[in-house]
Amino acid sequence: MRTPEELTDRFRSLGLKVTPQRQGVFRALWGDDGHPTAEAIWERVRVTMPTVSLRTVYQVLNDLADLGEINQVRLGSSSVRFDPNTVEHDHFVCRVCARVLDVHTRADVELPTARYPDFETDTVQIVLRGRCPDCARIGAAPH
Ligand SMILES: [Zn+2]
Ligand SMILES: [Zn+2]
Repeated sequence: MRTPEELTDRFRSLGLKVTPQRQGVFRALWGDDGHPTAEAIWERVRVTMPTVSLRTVYQVLNDLADLGEINQVRLGSSSVRFDPNTVEHDHFVCRVCARVLDVHTRADVELPTARYPDFETDTVQIVLRGRCPDCARIGAAPH
């Protein structure tokens, strides 16, 4: 992910307004590889900008996703998460602590063309679930 300063430059060069709220979101995201939800980013931005709305935070996150600066990750029933790691990868969700970790699988998933002749796949996202190394080490029980 680009630094908050680089993102500010990119937004300006595209003619997008760079408000203090936007920059607050850039800073809150920077270096966060924990796949935060919009709500988590909002909480962080509100520490210094109490008036910022969740709606504004969503808008900035969606703009960043549209520009390819971050990815939206859908992991099932929970809220959409935002991922500054835009290199292709998969996710491991811990059933105990609910952490979402980046993993690289060796899976080369393809639809069997005999069965699905007219499908065109462009993205494969694999979600693995279980216990993360920290929870497995202490023998924590999944919920
Ligand atoms: Zn865990
Ligand atoms: Zn990720």
